[in-house]
Amino acid sequence: MRITLDFECTSCFHIDERYIDNNTEYTECSECGSKAKRMISTPTIKLEGYSGSFPGAAAAWEKKHRMVAHHQEANS
Ligand SMILES: [Zn+2]
Repeated sequence: MRITLDFECTSCFHIDERYIDNNTEYTECSECGSKAKRMISTPTIKLEGYSGSFPGAAAAWEKKHRMVAHHQEANS
C-alpha cells in the first residue's frame, strides 16, 4: 500500500513529502542526497485506494450504467 509520508533529512533537515510504500522508514533527501527519516505523523491515504475497498459496489454501478447506456442506444 502506498501513502503520502513526510521524511526529514538527517543532515539538512529538509522535509520531503513522498508518495511511497507504507512501511518505508528511510528515503533519500531531494536537497542534499543524505538519509531522510520518516516523520511520525498521520498519513494521508489517497482516494484511489477507496474504490478498491468496495469492488462489489463499483462493479454493480458499472453494470447498471452499461445497461442504461444500452437501453438509450436501443431507443435512438
Ligand atoms: Zn538533506
